[in-house]
Amino acid sequence: MDKYPIGVFASIGAGLGVRLEVVKELGIHTVQLCCPHKEMRTEENAKKFIEKLNEIGVKITVVFCDFKGESYSTIQTTRETIGLVPPDLRAERKQEIREIADFAKVLGCDRIGIHIGFIPHETDSDDYRDLVATLAELADYLKAQGQAFHLETGQEKADGLLQFLQDVGRDNIFINFDPANMILYGSGEPIPALKKLGKYVRSCHCKDAKWSDKPGDTWGCEVPFGTGDVNAKAFLETLKEIGYEGPLTIEREIPAEPERQKAEISQAMDLIESLKKEVWG
Ligand code: MG
Repeated sequence: MDKYPIGVFASIGAGLGVRLEVVKELGIHTVQLCCPHKEMRTEENAKKFIEKLNEIGVKITVVFCDFKGESYSTIQTTRETIGLVPPDLRAERKQEIREIADFAKVLGCDRIGIHIGFIPHETDSDDYRDLVATLAELADYLKAQGQAFHLETGQEKADGLLQFLQDVGRDNIFINFDPANMILYGSGEPIPALKKLGKYVRSCHCKDAKWSDKPGDTWGCEVPFGTGDVNAKAFLETLKEIGYEGPLTIEREIPAEPERQKAEISQAMDLIESLKKEVWG
């Protein structure tokens, strides 16, 4: 794969990403795939899907976990429903992640992305220890089949995430850095966070946002890449600085407005192409 190819967040069936037809129209050749739900994760579907991808020359770089019952409608619902953090859903979702990893393997993808949720801050609590143990166990499962975990940024400040990675202590857990999420969740300035997490960053989202007037209490506002508070050029320059060479995956989360979504992804592609020339030459 070329260095820093443009990508887009895509989905089959339900999910936030754009459909494959749109990926084809936009002329994009890498996607992060929002994993379809259980009933669609059959081997037969995977084979059909691979055929379709080969036909349009698209490679999956990360398969992203997406669980039924998750809601990002407010920061509070995110706290209650996302990822592996809700204790009553942890065992069930742990099992589902294994199944998603198996499905990703059939798709030929060795990276599993996930929002694990708001990590408890009491690092001496049973809940924190259980979450650390859960991640370690899943990382071992992935490692046995040659796969890695990519944790998406957002819910945590960079320091909290670093502490968590160190506590889990596995060498196949990395970061999917989303600069807009740092702003949306009020988790800290994205560029210094990217520098701090640098050596762990193996995938990223080109997404932008504006700060909330109450960061951490209410959502910031997601906006087209290059028009928010991220500073797109500084983002790419920092990716260069940390030695990042992976895909630049555009994410624009307005699935209810597909035409506008496509247009704004296309504008983001133009911006990234011109910034790539400035930053990487
Ligand atoms: Mg993201």
